[in-house]
Amino acid sequence: MIKRSFLGLVKPRLQYNVEPDSVQELPVPNKVILLLKESQNGGRASSLKVGDNVKTGQRLSRSADSADYVISSVTGTISAMEPYVGTLAQKYTAITIDASGHDDWDESFKNEPNLDTARKFFESMAGGPSFTAFADPEKTIKTIVVNGMDDDLLLTANQCVVKNEAAAIKSGVQALKSITGTHKIVITVPENLVQQANATGAEVKTVNGTYPGSLPHMIMKDVLGQVVEAGDTIEDTGVVFMSAEAVAGIGTAVDTGQPRVTKTVTVVGKDGSSKNVKARIGAPIGDLLRACNVSVNDRDRLILGGPMRGAATYSEDLPVEPDTDGIVVQAEADSAQTTDYPCTNCGECVRICPVKIPVNMLVRFLEAHLYEDARNTYDLDCCIECGLCSYVCVSRIPIFQYIMLGKYELSLMETAEATNE
Ligand code: SF4
Ligand code: SF4
Repeated sequence: MIKRSFLGLVKPRLQYNVEPDSVQELPVPNKVILLLKESQNGGRASSLKVGDNVKTGQRLSRSADSADYVISSVTGTISAMEPYVGTLAQKYTAITIDASGHDDWDESFKNEPNLDTARKFFESMAGGPSFTAFADPEKTIKTIVVNGMDDDLLLTANQCVVKNEAAAIKSGVQALKSITGTHKIVITVPENLVQQANATGAEVKTVNGTYPGSLPHMIMKDVLGQVVEAGDTIEDTGVVFMSAEAVAGIGTAVDTGQPRVTKTVTVVGKDGSSKNVKARIGAPIGDLLRACNVSVNDRDRLILGGPMRGAATYSEDLPVEPDTDGIVVQAEADSAQTTDYPCTNCGECVRICPVKIPVNMLVRFLEAHLYEDARNTYDLDCCIECGLCSYVCVSRIPIFQYIMLGKYELSLMETAEATNE
């Protein structure tokens, strides 16, 4: 096991967009699709059925004690429930709800800021804040970082929330203190949002406007001065990250008694123009594209997320999820095509890697599916998932995708081992 701590940074040269675009609130869509994770034993959404009426803010799960759930973002009727396979073969039940057009709010959410409420309602809201570490007796969380930066180039959705919703973030910060007992809460923002951040009641820190300065591992090192050792998680070091939008959602829920059911998304068109829209979670991404006058033609590339870390997808019918920060459309001529050319050992990926992983060697092991060797010998666990290596690779090898697949396969092996113990 490794060996390489988080040291030896170089300065990549890509700048974030730090001027938040304006935001437009979209009307309630005709239908939403909510993706309910399937449990490991494959059980489907048994307590829900087609024809059920649901209310806005209602918690939908297989059973009352199920850990997996979604929050209905509209009032309406379930019209379909189908299996869906997402990224890295994660299985879901896709619940389609035909919306009635008006909101009748479910009243089972009690705005009591405690850990039980947080785990039962907040984890499925925008930004998907995780409270798992606070319930883990082996972890002691001393700091919460409210990340007010976006985690990819071109995106400004999260910064837009800091700019416009400082009061909601302030309520969220207060609620987080009650829920978690953690009193050191830091908000990280670019220089131009310091004034708004000062109104949130959190300790304000500025982040580097150069990519990948907003990623949690970079903030840990550059802002908090803490090193995450290889093989450890950020939570192992006593820190939990949440997005500014997640914290604003918690604040809104506590203030109004209604869980947040919208998501702010940056839509970037083929000409590079961008706009933020606030849409119901589960709305088809095609609705957002049309609202921004962005068309998608055959062979254009549709990316969920940003250009460095996002994932290409195939359909405008896919829904906005709690973690959908961006939708980027690239014309075929502007899309970098991956190849099966061999590595030329040019070293560009090694030079740009912020954690100095020997990426040229790592990729050989990943291509050969030798995931444990990739971890044990070539520092796979040190990767902070910035995508810079793919961006510079002259052979257009999909290094980032190999890395994500390798990490996923290793996590499956660990789960299988733990189950068999
Ligand atoms: S994605 Fe590539 S460049 Fe970024 S940390 Fe991982 S190996 Fe290094
Ligand atoms: S940038 Fe691509 S071609 Fe160059 S060493 Fe890295 S993997 Fe090989």
